[in-house]
Amino acid sequence: MPRVPLVVGNWKMHNTVAEARHLATSLVRSDLPSGVEVAVCPPFTALADISRLLTGSPVRLGAQDVFWEPRGAYTGEISPAMLTDLGCRFVIVGHSERRQHFGENDEVVTRKVRASFAHGLVPILCVGERLDERDAGQTERVVTRQVEIVMAVLPADQISPLVIAYEPIWAIGTGRAATGQEANRVVGLIRETLGRKDATSAAETRILYGGSVTPANAAEFSHQPEIDGALVGGASLDAAKFLAVVNAHRRSPV
Ligand code: PEP
Repeated sequence: MPRVPLVVGNWKMHNTVAEARHLATSLVRSDLPSGVEVAVCPPFTALADISRLLTGSPVRLGAQDVFWEPRGAYTGEISPAMLTDLGCRFVIVGHSERRQHFGENDEVVTRKVRASFAHGLVPILCVGERLDERDAGQTERVVTRQVEIVMAVLPADQISPLVIAYEPIWAIGTGRAATGQEANRVVGLIRETLGRKDATSAAETRILYGGSVTPANAAEFSHQPEIDGALVGGASLDAAKFLAVVNAHRRSPV
């Protein structure tokens, strides 16, 4: 089965409900290309409103994080069932900003991936190396380990529904993207890692690139054979820029 490109906007901690509605309205009113799946991940506070606004639109809803327990005394947390209740299809798990600022480790990330699947959400698992790790030539080791830890607990039938985003940390929000070739090489390596568990699933799993993707460089990534889409932060806050990135992932008609 060919992999359908996926472009996801991560709005991070931006936008009041009114601002989020304004941005989502621009997306819903625009002409989205066929053959590209599009999702937006607003902050939790705007999910209910944006969910209603996206009704009938091809744009999918995602959340930026989730807790692994189904319910209970976990002040401030949001369960997977609460997200599906709001119409979320995707959830970002293990974003480097959560690993860096909120101490999320691989065990936490793995629990979140499993809980997401258990409640019908599609996790977008973020992996990527820090600049010092890259400079020390450790990109392969770091990224492979991050993927293997999750693979160790995932049944084979949950590999290809999983979405992975390769996001080198030094490229996130810095304006310094990886090159298409560099990103393609690491994404290929991630696919090889999946393939050691299940070759068929590995060929079907969507692996995105994220890190300073803009309309100016989107095609450089979308043209790479291993890369199946983009996780977009900054550029997703501007409807025109986000749409340009989406359009760059349109497959040319055969
Ligand atoms: C992100 O939030 O995952 C991201 C890649 O951000 P940016 O596009 O701003 O680098």
